[in-house]
Amino acid sequence: GYRSRAAYKLKEIDETFHLIRPGQVVVDLGAAPGAWSQYLRRRFAPKEAGVGGAAVGALDGTIIALDLLDFEPIEGVHFIQGDFREDAVLQQLVDVLAGRPVDVVVSDMAPNLSGVGVTDSARVELLIELAIDFAQSHLKPEGALVCKVFHGSGYSQLVDLFREHFRVVKPCKPKASRDKSAETFLVGIGLKRRAA
Ligand code: SAM
Repeated sequence: GYRSRAAYKLKEIDETFHLIRPGQVVVDLGAAPGAWSQYLRRRFAPKEAGVGGAAVGALDGTIIALDLLDFEPIEGVHFIQGDFREDAVLQQLVDVLAGRPVDVVVSDMAPNLSGVGVTDSARVELLIELAIDFAQSHLKPEGALVCKVFHGSGYSQLVDLFREHFRVVKPCKPKASRDKSAETFLVGIGLKRRAA
């Protein structure tokens, strides 16, 4: 099983848009407790499964997970603990990539909410802007970014921001998100050329 039901959200997004394939380099932002990384790992597991479905052999793909919180290790997943907003943490991620372009960035990051609408939407926006900056610098041209966003103030600006950067932008509201009514995901596929 998965560490959290959150895995079914990424699964549904992946089944809708066919984003994850063996052999890819995927960055999982806001990865703790690790259900999305577990899902990615399964997608990269060699076809011949061991007893009880346990994967045998090397993973066909690279998963780099990052979170503020600690993360119980998952075999084959490279974990970085730190705040994605900090330059030093971003640099660690860049170091682990070692120049490899990224196929897919998935972000389930959510800030601690203050309850003050303006403050909260600014915090959500900052994390998404940083994820988009990272995607612009490290994604392959045909790569994809999946970000958790929230309906309400700021949503349409975030859709516009995605449209500035990606050729195709689709919202996705997985069934597993239905209980969290404001939560939805934006999927951006294929980078637009960065303005000169
Ligand atoms: N996708 C995860 C899974 O499947 O297990 C669940 C992610 S949880 C909804 C959101 C995570 O975002 C939290 O673990 C939180 O610590 C992390 N987060 C929030 N702000 C962050 C930041 N600035 N840098 C890194 N992680 C952050």
